Amino acid sequence: MNQLKSSSQDIKKVGFVSLGCPKALVDSERILTRLRSEGYQIAQTYDDADTVVVNTCGFISPAVEESLDAIGEALDATGGRVIVTGCLGERPETVKERHPHVHAITGSEDVDGVMNAIHELLPPDKNPFTSLMPEAEVDVKLTPRHYSYLKIAEGCNHTCSFCIIPKLRGKQVSRDSADILSEAWRLVATGTKELLVIAQDTSAYGVDLRHRNSTFRGEEIPAHLVDLARKLGETGAWVRLHYVYPYPHVDKLVELMAEGFLLPYLDVPLQHASPAVLRRMRRPGPSQQLEAIQRWRAICPEIVLRSTFIVGFPGETEADFEALLTFLEQAQLDRVGCFTYSEVEEADATHFGDLVPEAVKQERYERFMAVQQAISTAKLQARVGQVLDVIIDDYNDEPGQLIGRSKADAPGIDGQVFCVHGELAESKAARAIAAGSVKIGDIVRVQIEATDEYDLFGEVIEVLPWQPKVPQIRPRHGHAH
Ligand code: SF4
Repeated sequence: MNQLKSSSQDIKKVGFVSLGCPKALVDSERILTRLRSEGYQIAQTYDDADTVVVNTCGFISPAVEESLDAIGEALDATGGRVIVTGCLGERPETVKERHPHVHAITGSEDVDGVMNAIHELLPPDKNPFTSLMPEAEVDVKLTPRHYSYLKIAEGCNHTCSFCIIPKLRGKQVSRDSADILSEAWRLVATGTKELLVIAQDTSAYGVDLRHRNSTFRGEEIPAHLVDLARKLGETGAWVRLHYVYPYPHVDKLVELMAEGFLLPYLDVPLQHASPAVLRRMRRPGPSQQLEAIQRWRAICPEIVLRSTFIVGFPGETEADFEALLTFLEQAQLDRVGCFTYSEVEEADATHFGDLVPEAVKQERYERFMAVQQAISTAKLQARVGQVLDVIIDDYNDEPGQLIGRSKADAPGIDGQVFCVHGELAESKAARAIAAGSVKIGDIVRVQIEATDEYDLFGEVIEVLPWQPKVPQIRPRHGHAH
């Protein structure tokens, strides 16, 4: 076990482990921001940390195990100075059963609870020089500055039988539109070029507030996704919607995509296509999924659709599964994720009979992927020869090599665009752009030349000017000693 490092004159270092989905990431960013603003440093390794915060995920059994393992490692490294937060923190008995000696357990979104526990272990530094940082420096982000997740609601009002999120996180609580828009403006003002809008069910945003108005920059804005999305689009940033359920008002969002306010990208978790399975899953939204997809494509032909599905749900017959394959063929979705059903402790479906044997689940997963792979590959192939707008996320191995994403690709879950410029390129336009002159966060136009199963390859032919409609605040550089 490591010796603890605690010294009142040293800056206190807090280790941070963030597990789980983008929604958990947003909570992690809020905690990190508070830590930095109070003068704590973020330790890069456990060995370097005076205490460790573990932001856990409790969604499915493997995620619970991963979280419990991470807590164990942090306990070994710090001798018990561990604070557990996040989804699994909502079930303290599960954490305590395995790890009785964690210092504190708080639920998700409980930034104050985490900070109180940190203050108990490491009293805050009162030195005003370390706590009074300019706003742009205080903002600690786990995602690169050029894209940001924007959480618009927490919790969920549905009761999907395979999911325990409503039990963990409670009923939906939406933020007022003015609050979200202030955060979005601040993000775009300080360098964010892409906003990723998330909630458990983004389409249900504002239902709990009865879509009440709030005032942003002198204008009354209802807490409704269509109104919010238009205002977010007016910032000039790329706006990408995740976890949108196919309610009727989604047609209005697709109209905003056609008008250029939102990226023509919709992440719609459909989970299945057989009405019988969807009923047992207790999924929200109407069952006319195919009709909705056809309508969206008619409104915005360039729309890119992503979805996720579960195969092997209890009671799924071969006929149900074949209905799903037929749906995939008809829907021609661009991007699809697939999971074999796995039990979640405390979820209602855990008590369902008619379990599908593991071998059958696996076989269905492979058949599903084979059908979808052919569709996704053909969709990507159709991009060869096109010129796409691409946001640059990273440098690749050599100067002039870059990794980015088109409007069709969300970070972390979709494909990437590998592109070159300068001497590595072949086209005159791409050679004219000096290697190294394109930076992370730039938006460029890329001539697509090739594809493999997931990614695209091409040459940068133009660097696009960034013209947000929000006044920019640049972080100050060159601090005095
Ligand atoms: S919509 Fe269903 S799957 Fe999504 S968080 Fe709510 S209950 Fe869970």
